[in-house]
Amino acid sequence: MSARSSHTWPRCSARPPRAATASATAVKRLTPEQLHAISAAMRLFVEDDLANGISPRASQRCDICESPRPMAGFIRYDGRLACNDCATDYEIRRAFGQVRSIGGYVLQLRSRGK
Ligand SMILES: [Zn+2]
Repeated sequence: MSARSSHTWPRCSARPPRAATASATAVKRLTPEQLHAISAAMRLFVEDDLANGISPRASQRCDICESPRPMAGFIRYDGRLACNDCATDYEIRRAFGQVRSIGGYVLQLRSRGK
């Protein structure tokens, strides 16, 4: 008499996953050429520093990855010194719209456990 014990909810598979569509609009698309252009531009900082007499063997502590890194190519963002690798990664994420500031980038790195 009671339909309770045999009641099952119909499965609905028609709904698109919400999170996926939301993030797809938030993250910008970059072409491989744009990515290459960012990397190439960041590489210029290294060449510039070397041309200005910074020794390729000199190293400095990076505020982002917290490791001693080659001094040539360091970039200062809001009082933080970023090695060229970190700066390149930051610029690419910023171009993608994933981060807005160097502080936000550091927080994102720390929360991922590096
Ligand atoms: Zn670094």
